[in-house]
Amino acid sequence: MMDKRRFSVFDLHTHSQCSDGHYSPTELVDRAARIGIRVLALTDHDTTAGIAEARVAAHGHGIHLVPGVEVSVTWENKTLHIIGLGIDPDHEALNAGLAGIADIRETRAMEMGLRLEKKGMPGVLEDAKLLAGKGMVTRTHFAKVLAARGYALDVRDVFNRFLTPGKPGYVSTAWAPLADTVRWIRDAGGDAVIAHPLRYRLSKTWLRRLAGEFLEMGGVGIEVLSGQPSPGDLQSMRDFAIRQGLLGSCGSDFHGPDEGWPKLGRVPLMPAGVNPIWSGWSLPHDLA
Ligand code: AMP
Ligand code: MN
Ligand code: MN
Ligand code: MN
Repeated sequence: MMDKRRFSVFDLHTHSQCSDGHYSPTELVDRAARIGIRVLALTDHDTTAGIAEARVAAHGHGIHLVPGVEVSVTWENKTLHIIGLGIDPDHEALNAGLAGIADIRETRAMEMGLRLEKKGMPGVLEDAKLLAGKGMVTRTHFAKVLAARGYALDVRDVFNRFLTPGKPGYVSTAWAPLADTVRWIRDAGGDAVIAHPLRYRLSKTWLRRLAGEFLEMGGVGIEVLSGQPSPGDLQSMRDFAIRQGLLGSCGSDFHGPDEGWPKLGRVPLMPAGVNPIWSGWSLPHDLA
């Protein structure tokens, strides 16, 4: 049968309330089912806490749930995000690594709170933690609190004014090393994927260096499609993946319904010539 969908049935990059997403894992999976996603990866920042719940919800809808995680990494003084797909969410070494990152997040959050307090914005840490609940505390939580208090127009404006490098609430952080992260993901049975490669503003030379080291460490994929890419970005990532011998992944990086952010499942089809990351997975036969 001809596939008339303009969008992929794969969405391999999404967030829930276990990190900085708007919806619970169940609500996320329900929405994914409603718009026709067949293969969904939950990839919360530095935690696998939502996977068990997402699995149950996915089973109820006949969706194939790919257990995932988005790991915060520092490589050459730059913050990168590495996605693990098809991981065992209970793997000990992976979870020990993620627990270490959770500690780093805690320390950073306290420092952010202190810095904002010094700038005349008290109690932001407490409110951000309340908002995060049991989930990871992220800059998104700080941003939502600051926006709600009227310190800026909206979340994006908060990032620009307070939470990006050089701004008063920004704390530079040493996240997990790239090699460790790739090893945790591999040991947990997963595929390591470079998330949203164009967001790091790396030159082509740096991006090639990253891809080379990443492949040597055992990484396998790159997000050829992240969110709703421009035709130019799509073409350049397609060519890059093919030339470097990286498998292609695709994901919305959906966080919630806020205006201006990628929408769940609105991921264009994988361009021809790219070997998709799922080519080595066992999927329902109509998807493989
Ligand atoms: P963290 O990992 O705690 O530093 O938070 C990073 C998260 O903040 C990202 O995953 C995005 O969800 C969000 N974020 C980063 N930059 C921006 C921005 N300029 N506007 C809105 N959200 C952002
Ligand atoms: Mn996020
Ligand atoms: Mn990311
Ligand atoms: Mn993400």
